[in-house]
Amino acid sequence: MTETLKGISAQQQQEICDHMRSAQRILFITGAGMSADSGLPTYRGIGGLYNNEHTDDEMPIEVAISGDMLRRRPEITWKYLLQIAHSCHDASHNDGHKVIAEIEQAKKDTWVLTQNIDGFHSEAGTANLIEIHGTLDKVHCMSCDFEGMAKDISVDMDNLPPRCPKCGEVLRHEVVLFGEQLPEREINKLYHVLETGYDMVFTIGTTSVFPYIAQPVMLARQKGIPTVEINPGRTEVSHVVDYKIEDGAAKVLRALWETVKQ
Ligand SMILES: [Zn+2]
Repeated sequence: MTETLKGISAQQQQEICDHMRSAQRILFITGAGMSADSGLPTYRGIGGLYNNEHTDDEMPIEVAISGDMLRRRPEITWKYLLQIAHSCHDASHNDGHKVIAEIEQAKKDTWVLTQNIDGFHSEAGTANLIEIHGTLDKVHCMSCDFEGMAKDISVDMDNLPPRCPKCGEVLRHEVVLFGEQLPEREINKLYHVLETGYDMVFTIGTTSVFPYIAQPVMLARQKGIPTVEINPGRTEVSHVVDYKIEDGAAKVLRALWETVKQ
C-alpha cells in the first residue's frame, strides 16, 4: 500500500510514478523548502534568515551582504555570511536530497537546479548540479586565482575578512550577493539542460519568484512535459503545474521513488 500524499488522489500519484518510471531525464528545481527537513529555516534568498529589518550594524541585511559592501567593508559581509554558514553547518542533507541523488544514479541525465547555498545536494551525492546562487562551501580570492573550501580556511572573528594564503588579498564566499550577477558557469549549465531537454520536471520548495527558476517549468508546460510541484504553500507556478503535492519534500520524494523502484 503506498503512502497517501496531501493534495493529490491515489490515481494522480500513480500517474506521477508512471511518468517517473518512463522518464530518462528528470529535472529537479529546488529551493529553501527542500532543506526544511534538515532543520534550516525556509527563507527567500540568503537574506531571509533575518526576521528583523536591520542587522546589529544598523543596516538592512540586503545591504550587509551585497557585492557593494563586500568591496567597501568586507568584514561586514563576512560577519553575516558566517552567521548563515553557521546555521547550515549545524544541519545536514536529508532523505529528500538522498532520493534525488539515487534517481541520478538510476537515470544519468537527471539534473538539479537549486537556489540553495547550503551545499546539501552536493553532500548527498548529486553530480549534475546547478547551484545558481553559488555555495557557502567554497571560497576564492578576489584578486588572484586561489580557490578553496570554506572549511579549510582559518577564520579569526576579531580580524575579518580572512586573507588569501597565496597573495594576502580578501577572500570571498562563492555565493551570489545582492546586486551581483548570476555565475556564468552555472548559467551555461542551465542553458545546456534547457537545450538538451528533459522528460519531466519537479519544482520543490521554492516560491519561483526568480524567472530562471520558474522558466523551466513554464517551458515544460508549453511542450506538454509532465510537471510536478511539491510545496505545502501556493507559489508562482502552482497554477501551471500538472500535479501539486502539498506535503513535505523528503516524505513525498521517498514515497514516490519507493513506488517507482518496485
Ligand atoms: Zn589571492
